[in-house]
Amino acid sequence: MSRFKFAGDFGAIHQPEYRRMAKDERISPRAFRVHFAALGWANQIGHAEFGPGELAQVLGIGCGRQADKAADKAVTAAKTMGLVLPESGLRCLVLPYTLFQKGKGTVVCNHHRASIAQGVT
Ligand SMILES: [Zn+2]
Repeated sequence: MSRFKFAGDFGAIHQPEYRRMAKDERISPRAFRVHFAALGWANQIGHAEFGPGELAQVLGIGCGRQADKAADKAVTAAKTMGLVLPESGLRCLVLPYTLFQKGKGTVVCNHHRASIAQGVT
């Protein structure tokens, strides 16, 4: 793996590691793992999109309405803690550009109908 040179106080994360930690059931509360999922799957505009029921599966909660409800509770807790932006939900977790930036990947969010052309959220 290559090493980077950063300006200011920026560092780097390895997204596959955060995807792994998002799934790690030893880590609690779940709100932390919501944050890890956001970091692990965020695209260039800081949006991490998930399919129906996908976030509940990532968090190891399972499938179905009850699982989605529990996952939604974890997202709400993460929002309350400021770990993801208020516009986050089960279908997309959003990070501010002050917290996460990336040089590669998509620059749109189908869920929020956002794109880099409309400005970075
Ligand atoms: Zn989004």
